[in-house]
Amino acid sequence: MFKTLSVLLLFSFYLCADSDATKLLKERNQHLKPQITQVSPSVYCASGFSPANISMIVGEDGLIIIDTGMFADHAEAVLREFRKISTLPIKGIILTHGHGDHTGGTPTFTEKGTKIFTRAPFNSEGHHFTEGGIKINKLRGARQGGFLLPPEKRINNGIAPAVYPPKTDNPFMGKHLEPTDTFVDGRFKLSLAGIELELVAAPGETDDQLYVWFPKERVVFTGDNFYQSWPNLYAIRGHAYRNVQHWITSLDMMLKEKPAHAIPGHTQPIIGEVKTTEVLTNYRDAIKYVFDETIKGINQGLTPDELVCKINLPKHLRNKDYLREYYGNIQWGIRSIYSGYLGWFDGNPTKLFSLPPKEKAQGMVKLAGGKEALVKHAQQALVDGDAQWCAELCDHLLALEPNNQRYRDLKADVLEDLAEKLLTATGRNYYLTVAQELRKKK
Ligand SMILES: [Zn+2]
Repeated sequence: MFKTLSVLLLFSFYLCADSDATKLLKERNQHLKPQITQVSPSVYCASGFSPANISMIVGEDGLIIIDTGMFADHAEAVLREFRKISTLPIKGIILTHGHGDHTGGTPTFTEKGTKIFTRAPFNSEGHHFTEGGIKINKLRGARQGGFLLPPEKRINNGIAPAVYPPKTDNPFMGKHLEPTDTFVDGRFKLSLAGIELELVAAPGETDDQLYVWFPKERVVFTGDNFYQSWPNLYAIRGHAYRNVQHWITSLDMMLKEKPAHAIPGHTQPIIGEVKTTEVLTNYRDAIKYVFDETIKGINQGLTPDELVCKINLPKHLRNKDYLREYYGNIQWGIRSIYSGYLGWFDGNPTKLFSLPPKEKAQGMVKLAGGKEALVKHAQQALVDGDAQWCAELCDHLLALEPNNQRYRDLKADVLEDLAEKLLTATGRNYYLTVAQELRKKK
């Protein structure tokens, strides 16, 4: 009796105990708390108020704001903090790229005569979807972001606190403003409010990306080509190829500025020349290593499925916290580089005309000895800790009977298991959201 009880207790402890991934993500919350950091004599960074950072440079007779956050309420909270530091007028806003989490607060910071600087083609990723008539990216984006999950299922987004659109009557909510000044390539010198800046074309995460270089105080505002996590070389919501070689070159250019401090698009600033050089160098080298190894493997005829098993960061980079897969995932980056150059075909002729899911499932059922036998295999795989295999067997069952609630619940169970063990917050959110969708009775 006692023995049975202790086994049960041990099992329930196992079910409730946090995985290593969950523990690491929970620890991350410390890093993502709202905070104003004075980075250099006239530069301030507000991190953790909104998913993206909002920065301010105090000039002789005015202010420049770099990125404006996601929602008007976030921008307002940051503006309140900035106004405790300076009451000078806001002369300029620089948007490092067109993603909504960096631009949503623009109307809040805009005063009479405020100029808005961007790089063309501004919001390149968004336009690409619109031009192609793509709409599914919204649902996939919501799954990746965890916006459809209840708060207790979200720890954070890896590089950002878990936020929801605020219920607000803020008149600036959802409003957008057009840029007043746009440059295309190279280096654009800006002199405003007694501040001399250089806006530098830096394609990488997006084609419209720029970084801001403030030579006087040697601060680089990196946009989303750098934040403290393995980068999202590929976002699972989907998008056109993010050119990884351009990304590496952009990081290289930032390093050549010899910055003393770096303000990332998300997460806390890096302060001090030694640290900044070390972090940006390792960041560039890590991406370059994965890129080079992927290309090497591609030329050896390896498929994406084979490449992801083979490529790991070298030892000296593996345990750096700012390279951990909180937000992006190395495997997804490898697959993206592959398809960026070679498209969908992995070189194996079997895949030229794959069997439709239903036919494949019928074959699997036959091999397993019937549907019930396949269900048992899937259940056993989950008990044995082979969650991925369980998920793949569930897909066969669901290909035959997509509305079978028993199959749907089993797949939801396994997705929740996979989520618990995954560090990458975007993938975790995706698993949990699809699990939630599957649990809804059809
Ligand atoms: Zn961002």
